[in-house]
Amino acid sequence: MRILLVEDEIKLTDALGYLLRKEKMDVDVANDGDTGLILTQREIYDVIILDIMLPGISGLEILRTIRKTGNTTPVLLLTARDALEDRVEGLDIGADDYLVKPFATQELFARIRSLSRRTGSRYDMGNLVLGNVEYDSKSYVLKVANKQFDLSAKEGKLLELFMKRPGQVFTREQILNKVWGYDVDILETNVEIYIHYLRKKLQGTADLEIQTVRNIGYMLRERQNV
Ligand code: CA
Repeated sequence: MRILLVEDEIKLTDALGYLLRKEKMDVDVANDGDTGLILTQREIYDVIILDIMLPGISGLEILRTIRKTGNTTPVLLLTARDALEDRVEGLDIGADDYLVKPFATQELFARIRSLSRRTGSRYDMGNLVLGNVEYDSKSYVLKVANKQFDLSAKEGKLLELFMKRPGQVFTREQILNKVWGYDVDILETNVEIYIHYLRKKLQGTADLEIQTVRNIGYMLRERQNV
């Protein structure tokens, strides 16, 4: 499971980073709002833990920006005890949950587990599972029903992006940024080629399919049997 922690109190991020990694989670830490926002745009997270009061862009502004771009990653806000208005505003603009500081780490873990279940995909022995599709991001192996495929690193990252956000529409530009990074030489036609590779592997037996959303991009959804 991949977590982004945006929080400017270094002691807290050090401690939480250590504890989350001990729970076998991959943790990226941003100690200011601008870095946090850049990471939300570049990487794919299962849960984002977002402090509200940050140097640079505030947590609420980050949240507003990611929801505006259609990013549905579950967000857990960290708020001060007396910041009721921030909490209400946060929930209004699309936060999924909040924790009041100081909190017990066991409670944080419980919230993270609960939020990570909301997307529809789950983890089983480290593999990402959705319907009868199972993906191992360490060895790039895709299993569909009883078939198995070795994916290239890019193909794997593309599949991971879709599986972590079923039902979310991604534009070609968003896919390029998340899968290829900011490599200027890569063309949007690459996205189409890789979508084609994945579709061929999901063809037939998979519970999932990649749908083209006309003039916008692509999304992963349950196969429609017609
Ligand atoms: Ca803070």
